[in-house]
This record gives sequence, structure tokens and C-alpha cells, in this order.
Amino acid sequence: MSTQAPETHEFQAEVKQVLDIVVHSLYTDKDIFVRELVSNASDALEKLRHTQLTEKDIFDDNLPLEINLTTDDKAGTITIQDFGIGMTRDELVENLGTIAHSGSKAFLTAIKENGGLNENLIGQFGVGFYSVFMVAKEVKVFTRTWKKDGEGFLWTSDGSGKYTIEPSEGQRRGTKIVITLLDEYKDFAQESRVKDILERYSSFIEFPVNLNGTKV
Ligand code: ADP
Ligand code: MG
Repeated sequence: MSTQAPETHEFQAEVKQVLDIVVHSLYTDKDIFVRELVSNASDALEKLRHTQLTEKDIFDDNLPLEINLTTDDKAGTITIQDFGIGMTRDELVENLGTIAHSGSKAFLTAIKENGGLNENLIGQFGVGFYSVFMVAKEVKVFTRTWKKDGEGFLWTSDGSGKYTIEPSEGQRRGTKIVITLLDEYKDFAQESRVKDILERYSSFIEFPVNLNGTKV
């Protein structure tokens, strides 16, 4: 039995560095967080599709391979859900708590080579998942691995040095990210704003993308 209390973890030092830069940056193209999260959702669906070729025992195997975004302008939230591969507890720690993945690592290397931060580096390298903290007050990642014997988890952070992980019952396969926006970026909780962003590049995404229940 896993403990029900949230466990607190520290981000790896390099992640803190990236977060600090991202949060305090004057980089104005805040839209990129939508692109980064949709591209992660698409990667997760692609990995699931690949897994389906070799594995028979897939949790929630009948779910459609699609990406669902919802906005709630009263609550000031935007949510992005995929029925992709999902993450185990260990994968959450590794993938969202350390700099092991490509994008942010290249970003930090470039800053060092550049002798400091040039704002353009953020757009050029993409800081991946962490870009969400340019606009977020709090981020909740609900996730459930494709593995049948897995469990659901909730990862929560405000982008300062720590995050928590706790068990979360009753989840579908894949990942759902709920973003509570900072007051100054509440416009990302408006459907029209998100629709504009999605229309600019969702044609490059191989899977259906729905916004508040309508295909974009
Ligand atoms: P990159 O996409 O370049 O690897 P990101 O910072 O965008 O870097 O994401 C970090 C990692 O977190 C991904 O490599 C992936 O393992 C994991 N991840 C992020 N979003 C999802 C998701 N929606 N479903 C499953 N895994 C995810
Ligand atoms: Mg990514």
C-alpha cells in the first residue's frame, strides 16, 4: 500500500536553474507553453501507439488516441489531457524532476556557451514542459501509466524549488495537466485565445486535437 500523504521532492539543481530563468525571463512569447504541452501529449500518444504493436495488456486499451484541451475562464485554468503512455511514479520523478531530457539540457548548455541568457534561447531551444511556469501559478499533473498493474498519481508544483507526488485514484490512462494561470496571464483561459494558438500549428500534430469538445 502506498502512503496517501503527498511526498515532497526537491527539483534537481539544474531544473531549478531552468525554472528560475524561465519564471524571471522577459521572453514575451508566452504562447509557446501550449505548443510544448501539445507536443508532449502527441509524443505520449505516439509512444502508446508504438507500445500497442508489441504489448497485449494495455490499461484502458479502448481509449481514443486524441488530445483534449479545456478552458475555464471563471476559474482561470487551462487543462490538457492525452490518453497516451502516462507515467509511473519513478517516471514522474525522472522526467519532470530532473534535466535528463533533451530540450532543457540543450538550453542550459547554450546559456553556458553564450556566457549568459539571451532571451531568444528560450524560443530557440524550447524549455519543454518547464515553459508552463511562465504563465502558471500552480500546475497539477495527473497521470496513469499504460501498464495494467500501475497506479494513478498526482504531481503538483508552483515552479519554485519543490514538487509533491501523491496517489490519485480513478484515473484513465495517460496524462492530464491542469494549469492555474497567474492573474496577468488569465487570457489563456479564454477559448478564443487558445484556438488562435492551436490553429497556427495543430495541423502538424498527427492526432486529433479538441478544444472544449470541438475538433480544432
Ligand atoms: P522533451 O519533450 O524534450 O523530452 P519536456 O520537458 O517537454 O522534454 O518533457 C520532459 C519529459 O516528461 C518527456 O520526455 C516525457 O518523458 C515526460 N512527459 C511530459 N509530458 C508528458 C505527457 N503528456 N505524457 C507522458 N510523458 C510526458
Ligand atoms: Mg517536450
